[in-house]
Amino acid sequence: MSAFSRLPEGAPVIVGAGLAGVATALAAAPRPVVLVSETDPLQGGASPLAQGGIAAATGPGDSVARHLADTLAVGDGLNDPATARRLLALGPLVIETLERWGVRFDRTPSGDFARAREAGHRLPRIHHVADHTGRALMEALTARLNEAAHVTLLTGVRALAVQVEEGCVAGVFLAGKGETPFFCPSSTVVLATGGAAGLYGARSAPASADGTALALAARAGARLRDPEFVQFHPTALDVPARPLPLLTEALRGAGAVLIDERGVAFTDPLAPRDALARAIARHRAEGHRVFLDARPVGSHLARDFPQFLRTLAVHGFDPGMPVAPVRPAAHYHMGGVLTDASGRTDIPGLFAVGEAAASGLHGANRLASNSLLEAAAMGLLAGAILRETEPAPLPASRLPPRPRRMPRLSREALGVLLDGVMGIWREGERLREALSHLAPLIAEDDQALAAFLMVAAALGRRESRGAQARRDHPEPVHPPRSSVFTLDQARAFADGDVTSLQQQNDDASPFVPSPMEMAHP
Ligand SMILES: Cc1cc2nc3c(=O)[nH]c(=O)nc-3n(C[C@H](O)[C@H](O)[C@H](O)COP(=O)(O)OP(=O)(O)OC[C@H]3O[C@@H](n4cnc5c(N)ncnc54)[C@H](O)[C@@H]3O)c2cc1C
Repeated sequence: MSAFSRLPEGAPVIVGAGLAGVATALAAAPRPVVLVSETDPLQGGASPLAQGGIAAATGPGDSVARHLADTLAVGDGLNDPATARRLLALGPLVIETLERWGVRFDRTPSGDFARAREAGHRLPRIHHVADHTGRALMEALTARLNEAAHVTLLTGVRALAVQVEEGCVAGVFLAGKGETPFFCPSSTVVLATGGAAGLYGARSAPASADGTALALAARAGARLRDPEFVQFHPTALDVPARPLPLLTEALRGAGAVLIDERGVAFTDPLAPRDALARAIARHRAEGHRVFLDARPVGSHLARDFPQFLRTLAVHGFDPGMPVAPVRPAAHYHMGGVLTDASGRTDIPGLFAVGEAAASGLHGANRLASNSLLEAAAMGLLAGAILRETEPAPLPASRLPPRPRRMPRLSREALGVLLDGVMGIWREGERLREALSHLAPLIAEDDQALAAFLMVAAALGRRESRGAQARRDHPEPVHPPRSSVFTLDQARAFADGDVTSLQQQNDDASPFVPSPMEMAHP
């Protein structure tokens, strides 16, 4: 009997078992939910890879207002301040909830949280479990999930399409590897499938971050927001492995510096990520090699950064000489499916949470360690909505036609294309060529579609802002505007209608704020 035949009828379907999806599922208790994921919560997705930690204003002298100010400074004019405030204000509750779910954040001898400081944060507010915070989070949440009777978890299952009927969600097509797609009727589908930075060749993001949410939501008719904004992590270990192992930002917070082959410290190691990634890429383009020198961290290195030393050893470097070659790598997708703070898209019943969403928290660039916070906070808010909402009656529908999905471009070829045109520097002519190349592939190929949407938005944004640097448009344009558009508008843009990629100032959210108060899930 297929695993699909045992699913609770009409239950909300959460797609993706990273931090956002698992938090949504746990917070929905006691309402029965289905959690499907292509990978196991501990083995796939970005969440178990996270090292540095999770930001929250819990410390003495810190406040939501200060955390918000740092977030807005990095977001370069494209944050939605109201949404950002709402999600950041949940920081202390998120930390408390995660501890209640079994996470044990590092503490000082006096029992307070041991908070680290990372680039762009003016105060130490990163809660961590040594330098393997993501793994620790997902281990604790998986244990909790295993005891959660209201969650039906199916792994090895991919979501292929969201079905929309009469403007509302009617279900989702799921398939195990090599199996025939199965239609799962539900009036609520939550996309928690992570970001799109895994589409790049030079990436620290996992392969699962393949733009699924962008593609599925776009095909369903939802609006997208700012998909051109991809953050490049400045310090991935420069080795042939994929994903490129990341050397955590916290190392620089603890004193590590960036030097070149001459030993010259050529840039400020605590500069914001985009500035640092550009400085490293520029220095490499000038023919230098770049190294992260962790010797200044001193005697704390082994205690606080065991993962870093393990990574060096695994890749053949001597942990006793912690100086490692680094390069920037595609790391995080700020853009995504347009949502409010609770993950609601503009299609009733369709949610997107975590990195899949563009909630307005990050704007044009992400403040370090705000993404685990966003994933958990949106999960708590979306889960609370699932818990409180009566399922909508499903339209008495005929079985919808099965989606035809067929990669038309290999992941390697797509990675080379994105590395070439959607990297740290972009240029109109090359973006236009890439868009023409991708356009004929998007009808069936979800990854080509995700790339198409990102390239279209990068081309439409004729300015340099946040994580986007255009060689042909080096200055920012005022006032700052988000790109908010549908698949049809992106298609029209690619066909030459340059007005169709609406860039709108989005600080007036298109959504009614949730009246629902956060209760303790
Ligand atoms: C190396 C690395 C280090 C990082 N360090 C930090 C950090 O220290 N602090 C911080 O705040 N952020 C960090 N980030 C970012 C952060 O980890 C992510 O933004 C966050 O974990 C995203 O969580 P998520 O639940 O949205 O997605 P993910 O954790 O990526 O989970 C997505 C899930 O969806 C599944 N999926 C994808 N497509 C489908 C499909 N079609 N059908 C079914 N399932 C699907 C995947 O298998 C996976 O289970 C880091 C990222 C990386 C790559």
